[in-house]
Amino acid sequence: MADTIDEANQLAEQHLERSLRAARQPVPVGVPGECEQCGGDSARLVGGRCAPCRDGRRR
Ligand SMILES: [Zn+2]
Repeated sequence: MADTIDEANQLAEQHLERSLRAARQPVPVGVPGECEQCGGDSARLVGGRCAPCRDGRRR
């Protein structure tokens, strides 16, 4: 029984660790839509802006 609890705790710890790592280095989630900056359609907007705008490039 104790082993099962230890295992559960370990899993929870690993999950927490992953969550904290993800929070420290957030991977931007892209959403399809219209870029706020250039108005172009993009399959992956991050923060409302397309990749060229985020990179500081103009299309
Ligand atoms: Zn753009």
